[in-house]
Amino acid sequence: SPLFSAIEMAPRDPILGITEAYNADQNPAKVNLGVGVYYDDNGKVPLLECVKKAEAILIEKYAPRTYLPIEGLAAYDRAVQDLVFGADSAVVKEKRAVTAQAIGGTGALKLGADFLKRLAPDSEVWISDPSWENHRALFESAGFKVNAYPYYDAATRGVNFAGMLNALQTMPAGSIVLLHACCHNPTGADLTNEQWTQVIEAVTSRGLIPFLDMAYQGFGDGIEADGQVVRRFAEAGGALFVSNSFSKSFSLYGERVGALNIAASSAEEASRVMSQLKRVIRTNYSNPPSHGGQVVATVLATPELRQLWEDELAGMRVRIREMRNAFVSKLKTKAPAQNFDFVIQQRGMFSYSGLSKEQVGQLRDKHSIYAVDTGRICVAALNSKNIDGVIDAIASVL
Ligand code: PMP
Repeated sequence: SPLFSAIEMAPRDPILGITEAYNADQNPAKVNLGVGVYYDDNGKVPLLECVKKAEAILIEKYAPRTYLPIEGLAAYDRAVQDLVFGADSAVVKEKRAVTAQAIGGTGALKLGADFLKRLAPDSEVWISDPSWENHRALFESAGFKVNAYPYYDAATRGVNFAGMLNALQTMPAGSIVLLHACCHNPTGADLTNEQWTQVIEAVTSRGLIPFLDMAYQGFGDGIEADGQVVRRFAEAGGALFVSNSFSKSFSLYGERVGALNIAASSAEEASRVMSQLKRVIRTNYSNPPSHGGQVVATVLATPELRQLWEDELAGMRVRIREMRNAFVSKLKTKAPAQNFDFVIQQRGMFSYSGLSKEQVGQLRDKHSIYAVDTGRICVAALNSKNIDGVIDAIASVL
């Protein structure tokens, strides 16, 4: 067709490309560390017990599948808002918070980006260098110019905090700053509480618009600890955007459950914000799907199921921590010349391992171990059965 004849092939998604190559590999010892998914110690994506139990309750009800409200299930939005900002927070108690169910964390970011383009069309967006690879594309597709602030420092394997702070102090007022609330993807390098204090101070005093992306709440130091940054930003006042996702924390990837949360200055302002946010949703997909939201709302609002969820999430967090510890201690034995202690300091599912593109290539070609060219590995893809093979292979390419 003349419509399509000149269309160019879009570049392949680099991470999906890794999985394709992994799937085609015949080596039974192959390991895919390129993924962005939590696997249990058997190498399986878990189906949480709390989710099974919530689904049993929902099946019993045999409820008709009507449309949800534009902003999603009310019980879900309420529960998510309490989780994200804190049920006892001023922003929730004063009804200054706005929460809309979204199609995963990605959908929440897209809603926030489209909404911000209407509110602040001339602002530019700043993301960390590096960041989750979809951040740039999402905000660019909403019409923003996207810049990067310094973040990862390859020399120290930590955060270039001076560079980051300087960028915050010099970017134009009104700029939109995208920050990872915890468990930075792809590096695993997070800010300390003291560094967050300085970031909040810079963002607030310079009139920047903070947008916190929280895709891994509970994977760092716990649900409460990981959510602290959101609460501290909300307490500092001013407009605040928070996208959150339950893809990982409930292992509900394909159900697409997340939310966009916004803090406003008054209840009256919040209701105007929600009315306009609903127009963005209405013209995108009308209203969100119901199943995932029902599951999460049921778990969060049922004390036994909520406890079960917190325990299961803690189990995932602890297992990742154990894999980090094992990774470092085993490499100490096999490759004593190199120090990997930074892997223990990192948080969440990912680690910038420090492996070079060439080393990643050797791991793939000689050992059928797949990682991202940047050296990013998914620590949650390591388990008690594959870790020794992975360590031997890494030691052999160092
Ligand atoms: N933000 C970050 C930092 C992510 O890593 C991801 C995906 N893993 C998302 C947002 C998107 O989450 P979801 O899969 O729920 O769309």
